[in-house]
Amino acid sequence: RRITQILEVPFDALTMEEAVEKALGFLEDGGAHYICTPNPEIVMEAQKDHELMEILRKADLVVPDGIGVVWASRYSEIVLKERVAGYDLTQNLFRAIENTEHKVYFFGGAPGVAATAARKMKKVYPGLRIAGGHNGYFDAEEEKKILADIKKAAPSILLVGLGAPKQEKWIYEHLTETGAKIAIGVGGSFDVMAG
Ligand code: UDP
Repeated sequence: RRITQILEVPFDALTMEEAVEKALGFLEDGGAHYICTPNPEIVMEAQKDHELMEILRKADLVVPDGIGVVWASRYSEIVLKERVAGYDLTQNLFRAIENTEHKVYFFGGAPGVAATAARKMKKVYPGLRIAGGHNGYFDAEEEKKILADIKKAAPSILLVGLGAPKQEKWIYEHLTETGAKIAIGVGGSFDVMAG
């Protein structure tokens, strides 16, 4: 990996196209991976939240969701090539896995939002396979059911929209259990897709 550190957060110096290629590789190599897309606020938050910093440092792919992060790399040896926003990366992945065996699970957002987002994305990418979805408001009991539902749905890609850093922590704790090949924290993306 070609990495540049911004306040100790390791960003991959990749274009959007390269990031998509890398993610598609994750779908094929048999492992479980997670992708983080920190914006400047999250980089700052990681300075005081050590658990978040550790999660970012262990991620399989970290791309800059914000031009401020790209600018911050300007005088580094390895310069970030462009902004790779989580929302755009997700859209590009949808396009890339359309009409393949790979399914996507939408987890997060207010009740109904994930389902609407999935339905709208299916209109934009008709060959997209939806594994399932669930809203992002749950207690411990409900969380067990959600995990069981994800496992049963067997998505290749698990999108987690619980807001940062809650989603990153959730992914870190549960990724292996979900069986997904890739998990991505997508923030408020479901609201945008559903809108
Ligand atoms: N959310 C959720 N469960 C929670 C808290 C938040 O599903 O316990 C969802 C919320 O409905 C929204 C998203 O997480 O869809 C947070 O969006 P926001 O834009 O605030 O997050 P960011 O993109 O800044 O991480």
